[in-house]
Amino acid sequence: MRKKIVAGNWKMNLDYNEGVSLFSEIVNMVRDERKGDQLAIICSPFIHLNSLAKLGGNDVKIGAQNISDKESGAYTGETSAKMVKSVGAEYVILGHSERRQYFAESDALLAEKTKVALANGLTPIFCIGETLDERNNGSYYEVLKKQLVDGIFGLTEEDFKKIVIAYEPVWAIGTGLTASPEQAQDIHAFIRSEIQAKYGFNTADDTTILYGGSCNPGNAASLFAQPDIDGGLIGGASLKSRDFTDIIKALN
Ligand code: 13P
Repeated sequence: MRKKIVAGNWKMNLDYNEGVSLFSEIVNMVRDERKGDQLAIICSPFIHLNSLAKLGGNDVKIGAQNISDKESGAYTGETSAKMVKSVGAEYVILGHSERRQYFAESDALLAEKTKVALANGLTPIFCIGETLDERNNGSYYEVLKKQLVDGIFGLTEEDFKKIVIAYEPVWAIGTGLTASPEQAQDIHAFIRSEIQAKYGFNTADDTTILYGGSCNPGNAASLFAQPDIDGGLIGGASLKSRDFTDIIKALN
């Protein structure tokens, strides 16, 4: 059975005290709302990770938003997977469109980061998604397939089984424009069929595929009701404890 997950991506928001305070609220609320088999995750900036991991317990897991592709050494300003893991984080977002776009992260680099994450015991939440142009010109299936093939289909089946995928159409991120449940389901089914072609039915059936892009308490239930949507990766709404908790409540 695949896991149902709601993960928050705080992006570059909240100073240390604001982050700890919001997270404490989230933990208290999620403790009351979460059903046993559901997973809540907050992916924070590096500076919060150590403190949040100690506060989250079993109720809210912690993830980073990036790691270096290098294990260690003279790489000023970088943070390694081992460092992230050592403070109690268990997840890392990789392949987010903001990193692909603003930091020129290529599929090859992301494939490397994915391997390093797994080698250090972190679970990648690997994001793929098409731009508005790619949606409009009809090339989006090809674009998404290339991101899958070049980013994560090089993994062994054993490693692939450990990862979570997030479909985040770039045109829906932070725009208030959500993919309709039908549009999202269509892509999630496509992703699962590509996984099946590569790794077989059981692995495809067990892979958690999240939707991200202007997901909020008002649209979460209809998205999560789709058979191939296993939860969400939440940006803006994860910065409000009530909204984030209401999205968790919408998980079926
Ligand atoms: P929004 O929910 O703010 O659209 O952001 C989605 C996202 O990028 C999550 O990673």
